[in-house]
Amino acid sequence: MHKDVKEILYTQDEISQKCKELGKLIMNDYHDKNLVLVGLLKGSVPFLAELSKYVNLDVTFDYMDVSSYEGTESRTITIKKDLDQDVKGKDILLVEDILDTGKTLSTVKAMLEERGAATVEIVTMLDKKEGRTFPIEAKYVGFEIPNAFVIGFGLDFDEKYRNLPYVGILKEECYQ
Ligand code: 5GP
Ligand code: MG
Ligand code: MG
Repeated sequence: MHKDVKEILYTQDEISQKCKELGKLIMNDYHDKNLVLVGLLKGSVPFLAELSKYVNLDVTFDYMDVSSYEGTESRTITIKKDLDQDVKGKDILLVEDILDTGKTLSTVKAMLEERGAATVEIVTMLDKKEGRTFPIEAKYVGFEIPNAFVIGFGLDFDEKYRNLPYVGILKEECYQ
């Protein structure tokens, strides 16, 4: 275990097992649809890679990189990298590492709906329900977690720890 990790919440095996379960649900819901998996950079990449192994459909991938301004309740986000494709008529599944306030995803969802996507749903590896300030829920949730700062399996602190093969709680002394 990394020296900055206080506690491991989910191991690689547990995450993989969860991806298998989510993959089944997704295949059942999207087998007759035009599914595009949209990863939100950068945190969703390891989860998207694992999950997609269990989505045995003809899916396509795309990525978006957005940042929301800190310390404001406004819906303003900046698009750093937009999708490569036109989403009109497509079934979009937004893939996220963690859903917290919901600001990022509620804004992105509204934007893709406005562009004419047929459906826009969310799959998130982790859900911090207590943190929610925007009215949005994920259709598929890996694990519900309490309000702690977690790292690993894509999640960073100051761009570090994304490569840890598990999700863990960061020691307080590392961000104080
Ligand atoms: P929100 O739902 O507030 O718009 O934003 C979710 C984003 O906040 C996530 O994609 C992630 O970048 C960041 N975030 C929220 N909670 C945590 C956490 O516990 N750990 C890490 N590393 N990032 C988090
Ligand atoms: Mg994210
Ligand atoms: Mg981050």
